[in-house]
Amino acid sequence: MSVGKAKGINTHGHLGWVTKRCRICGKLMDVTRQIVYKCPNCEKKYGAYFCEADAKILHYKCPYCKGQLVLFTEKGK
Ligand SMILES: [Zn+2]
Ligand SMILES: [Zn+2]
Repeated sequence: MSVGKAKGINTHGHLGWVTKRCRICGKLMDVTRQIVYKCPNCEKKYGAYFCEADAKILHYKCPYCKGQLVLFTEKGK
């Protein structure tokens, strides 16, 4: 386990950790440290966030709208 960058300091100006729960398996994910996929259409409506393993199982398609999942970290570029 590497230590990684300091908690609470990042370029987006968030307050430390940003966690999302995988809609499929319920795993809690820290988007600043882990790969998290989301559906941009359903993220607000359903909390459509997915862990890497489940995104792969879904073939990177949203189970709600069948849209393409995107990497959570791509936002705000
Ligand atoms: Zn999952
Ligand atoms: Zn969707």
